[in-house]
Amino acid sequence: MKPDLFQALDYYNLDELLTDEHKMVRDATREFVKREVSPIIEQAAQDAKFPDQLIKGLADIGAFGPYIPEEYGGAGLDQISYGLIMQEIERGDSGIRSTASVQSSLVMYPIFKYGTEEQKKKFLPKLASGEMIGCFGLTEPDHGSNPGGMTTNFKDKGDHYLLNGAKMWISNSPFADIAIVWAKNEEGRIHGLIVERGMEGFTTPETHNKWSLRASATGELIFDNVNVPKENLMPGKSGLGAPLGCLDSARYGIAWGAIGAAMDCYDTALRYAKEREQFGVPIAAKQLQQKKLAEMVTEITKAQLMAWRLGTLRNEGKATSAQISMAKRNNVEMAIKIAREARQVLGGMGITGEYSIMRHMMNLESVITYEGTHDIHLLITGLDITGHAAF
Ligand SMILES: Cc1cc2nc3c(=O)[nH]c(=O)nc-3n(C[C@H](O)[C@H](O)[C@H](O)COP(=O)(O)OP(=O)(O)OC[C@H]3O[C@@H](n4cnc5c(N)ncnc54)[C@H](O)[C@@H]3O)c2cc1C
Repeated sequence: MKPDLFQALDYYNLDELLTDEHKMVRDATREFVKREVSPIIEQAAQDAKFPDQLIKGLADIGAFGPYIPEEYGGAGLDQISYGLIMQEIERGDSGIRSTASVQSSLVMYPIFKYGTEEQKKKFLPKLASGEMIGCFGLTEPDHGSNPGGMTTNFKDKGDHYLLNGAKMWISNSPFADIAIVWAKNEEGRIHGLIVERGMEGFTTPETHNKWSLRASATGELIFDNVNVPKENLMPGKSGLGAPLGCLDSARYGIAWGAIGAAMDCYDTALRYAKEREQFGVPIAAKQLQQKKLAEMVTEITKAQLMAWRLGTLRNEGKATSAQISMAKRNNVEMAIKIAREARQVLGGMGITGEYSIMRHMMNLESVITYEGTHDIHLLITGLDITGHAAF
């Protein structure tokens, strides 16, 4: 892979809207990605192997639980800093960002929001330091876009719960130490349980042959009469709103992350277009290539403004789920379109692992599907503006 020459794009001087802390956090993450992620990520993706040597560094830059309070080991940062961290990590690779997103928003967040004080003290500091890795089990083989139909269930057996069922498409599952599992009780009410590796009847087979997010490990969670201690149920919230609350936080991070992938594709295409000569001039001098590049810079700038505004709303506790859906949907589509156009700017070179674009493009096929598909987010906006659910 070529050396990482990335230069960030700030066409509307958005840096002026950031605090010194935001810029410090962002620059530290950018530096980490250049130093630790870029040199190894292409090989990790080719080998379909999660580069676990990055875990300590991700923890050190505050990527695990950026907005979780410091008393529980988190970085105690605001939502803009969280977004900027996700942007910079995904600039390196969506799979690495997925690991950080899951750990922060889908594992630490529910424990922090819905867990007992004992659960917070037991798990959060170890998750923040990377000593422990978690995963989030909502999707099932027969229930993806409609998680409320889940069949994974637990029964009250007096001194413990008996858990049965299966989850699939679970990021980090093959190596996770704990799983946040959403399951129905005997009354059909959804609750979150903390299932720990080593519990008898709990297995996590890996899903192979992915063409996307190859540097992220994905797998199943299988529960075959697993005895879960009662103290592992998170009592703070039940019903579908509990997992959806976590997804809001993760989707917000994706809205920023996708900008990182798009910026990397744009930056690579711009540099290539200036250097590559055909018909005696750089291809950057050709109108058709300029159209592609000018549209990319425009779309990235719009996405940056959207993410920044959403971050300020989240800091004020005012962002709605529908606003988050809109930003996730818009920004991921923006990134995938830019990846496809940028790939073309590089001609044949665009399909090789010498450049990051094709990897981003394939990764974004998962990002546009997980955490609510592109179409489902459109239906969420439709519901919000019309009052009619069309799911
Ligand atoms: C790499 C990867 C990692 C993932 N990680 C996790 C994870 O960590 N934890 C987790 O719980 N899940 C995870 N997921 C699962 C992901 O969230 C689901 O794939 C997603 O929600 C879609 O579910 P599905 O694949 O079953 O598709 P389906 O729900 O079967 O949808 C198929 C198609 O039908 C469309 N569709 C569905 N319902 C409607 C409707 N009412 N109207 C119109 N169109 C509709 C969808 O938009 C989609 O295009 C991951 C997925 C991938 C690919």
